[in-house]
Amino acid sequence: MRSVSVFGATGSIGENTLDLIARQPGDFDVVALTGGRNIARLAELAQLHNADLAVTAFEECFEDLTAALAGSEIEVAAGAQAIKEAASRPADWVMSAIVGAAGLIPGLEAVKQGKTLALANKESLVTAGPLLLGAAQQHDATVLPVDSEHSAVFQALVGEDISAVERIVITASGGAFRDWPAEKLKHATLEDACTHPNWDMGQRITIDSASLFNKAMELIETKEFFGVRPEQIEAVVHPESLIHALVGFKDGALMAHLGPPDMRHAIGYALHWPERGGVPVERLDLAKIAQLNFREADPEKYPALRLAREVMQAGGLSGAIFTAAKEAALDAFISRQIGFTQMAEVVDATLSTLSGEIDASSGISLDSVLSADHLARKTAMQIIESW
Ligand code: NDP
Ligand code: MG
Repeated sequence: MRSVSVFGATGSIGENTLDLIARQPGDFDVVALTGGRNIARLAELAQLHNADLAVTAFEECFEDLTAALAGSEIEVAAGAQAIKEAASRPADWVMSAIVGAAGLIPGLEAVKQGKTLALANKESLVTAGPLLLGAAQQHDATVLPVDSEHSAVFQALVGEDISAVERIVITASGGAFRDWPAEKLKHATLEDACTHPNWDMGQRITIDSASLFNKAMELIETKEFFGVRPEQIEAVVHPESLIHALVGFKDGALMAHLGPPDMRHAIGYALHWPERGGVPVERLDLAKIAQLNFREADPEKYPALRLAREVMQAGGLSGAIFTAAKEAALDAFISRQIGFTQMAEVVDATLSTLSGEIDASSGISLDSVLSADHLARKTAMQIIESW
């Protein structure tokens, strides 16, 4: 039996992970489940999976969670420190599926166990890739990608030598606005941005898919995870979302990974790795699909892609600044303080304002990342308020 913990259990990735776990009774022992404000669901999941520990990230939710789990033997805790402690509870396999840069510290703590970290939280790689992967290496832990594109690349690389890779192509659905003309994006509302043509995901990543900030983060994630040069990484719009990524080798061969747009595919691969296990996703009927389409990701329409390239070139703390500014801009868009296209303007302006702080000459540390994150959020808010 494998012991597992799920961080971000109440979210879209967390629920899908627990769905797979529930289908194999007796194979997994659930140690810790963490959530945020959805206390009723966290308590329900903790009971359903007979977890040892349930943690909410917010201290003010402690009493509600305690009340919801009264009479059970499940230990309850709350707050960021409690989340960090939960990550040090022994577990063979830990799912990192908290949304945002808040996933970094528990991820760093989990790899210290020297076991397996299934990484959905792309923000931790964008913010502090060298730190997280360096810590994993130091503690002999395995980090498995769960983002569908990166899982696809990882699978295409099995048995291959990374030095034979010429290019990595990740696909983008194009999000909610893929068929909108660029001029119309200024008027896109929150409701418009919260729909996704193919994937069913959390609200934040759905909006990031519409702006292609999600793809921008994934370009950086690809560089960090696979250690390839920025110019080897491409993003292409593929409206069907059936090919998740392609790896091109130096002999010109392209290995594509296909699967339905269902995250249980990538989660299941990480859950069963290094073996392949059964995963209850739809099987593709190629004749019915008939055709696959690709088109260029328009850099004018999606400035997030250019910003990602700048971050990859700059290195240092630019990923931490980029992520934090993007999160502040996203919060402002969700609270209707700024418009859709202003999100990229906020990130661009924050990166320019803080260009002196990036310092790629020395390595990054958790302290330098956290202060860059703090400064970038403050700067982004000041920019927003000045408009
Ligand atoms: P959701 O918004 O659906 O879920 C986020 C989870 O994080 C919830 O459990 C939420 O708790 C919890 N949470 C929110 N804020 C905090 C915080 N400050 N500290 C600790 N926990 C917190 O997100 P997704 O599942 O969509 O995404 C999770 C991660 O996976 C993201 O990094 C995303 O980019 C990545 N990812 C997601 C994909 C998808 O298909 N959804 C695909 C590929 C990557 P609560 O809801 O209880 O408040
Ligand atoms: Mg993805």
